[in-house]
Amino acid sequence: MKQPARAGTVTWPMRGLTRAIEALVAAGGSAPEEARLVAANLVLANASGHDSHGVGMAARYVDSLLQGGLRVNQHVQVQLDTGSLLRLDGSSGYGQVVGREAMALGCERALQQGVCVVALANAHHLGRIGHWAEQCLEQGLVSLHFVNVVARPIVAPHGGLDARTGTNPVCVGIPRAGHEPIVLDFATSRIAQGKARVAYHRGLPVPEGTLLDDRGAPTTEARYGVVPPYGALLPFGEHKGFGLSLVAELLGGALTGGGTCREPDTGKRRILNGMLSILLDPAHLGTSTYFAAETEAYIDWLRRSPTPAGAPGITLAGEPERAARRRAAEQGIDLDEGTWQELLNAAQKLGLSAERVERLAASDI
Ligand code: NAD
Repeated sequence: MKQPARAGTVTWPMRGLTRAIEALVAAGGSAPEEARLVAANLVLANASGHDSHGVGMAARYVDSLLQGGLRVNQHVQVQLDTGSLLRLDGSSGYGQVVGREAMALGCERALQQGVCVVALANAHHLGRIGHWAEQCLEQGLVSLHFVNVVARPIVAPHGGLDARTGTNPVCVGIPRAGHEPIVLDFATSRIAQGKARVAYHRGLPVPEGTLLDDRGAPTTEARYGVVPPYGALLPFGEHKGFGLSLVAELLGGALTGGGTCREPDTGKRRILNGMLSILLDPAHLGTSTYFAAETEAYIDWLRRSPTPAGAPGITLAGEPERAARRRAAEQGIDLDEGTWQELLNAAQKLGLSAERVERLAASDI
């Protein structure tokens, strides 16, 4: 059953929430498997501690769908296949489907040939990019992902005062023998746009140094990242985050052929991602025994760095998400009322009643 959590939020069981999102996606015309993949992906993002890429995105997807910017039941189109180079078009289909298909093709090739470069253009929102690294990790593959966002620009370049780029995530997955993998996965803005949205819904400020207002002045008012008049998020790490964002824009947008965020707006609401992924099989490189042993020796040495008294110690990328998943499996997922209301409104746009969505979300079977 749903339970009140902290003020203004409600806790939903993971299974119930998944059923509710599945019903919402299916009401938009998606086949059952598509609805299942989209719901599982979004709920896992919440469970991993990334509400910014969780079920709240489903309301955005419904707007994209109704305006023709997102197309249901699409599959990747292979535009070029040289064996170790794949150029794929996502046809504005759900990223949760075309992203999975793109990675499945890439994994197959990387396992056969040692490496595969996958250039995926025109995927609708790919969600948490770590999800795709995790798919590669299931096959024991190292993977690197550079992603751009073909939508209204929302991040200022380092030194600039208005938005000229996206939150352009970069992600690297590294398998470990007998241990949980490294999954480094972050936006190149100081905060992901969805984090401004979550703060806005919760009536909270965003941290200082993360946002400019519509005139380019620093602000902590989350609304400048969410509703007009728009400001701009800032890149993390000054020129360093901006540099990573630049290469993600060029590799994910220009090299894949999908386009950069300077493309003229079609007027349709949509979030398209371009993703350049490099998948590598350590077994083919001939260093896998050394790689596995040295990785563990290095991590052991790294963890012995002294830390201040009472501090939690050294955290490796991927660990916070796995800890959050364990908590969510036991305690369920907290959603704020603003996000939940947006989801109910989105369901109603597709003819699905709020009562049915709430009934599904509250069930734990
Ligand atoms: P974030 O700032 O929370 O950073 C997450 C990364 O840092 C993870 O790899 C995590 O394991 C690691 N990490 C967290 N705390 C750590 C610690 N104390 N020590 C060491 N490592 C630590 O992430 P974000 O920038 O808010 O991005 C959130 C998600 O948004 C990502 O999954 C990203 O792919 C996604 N995203 C997607 C798009 C898109 O268009 N599809 C755009 C932007 C972001």
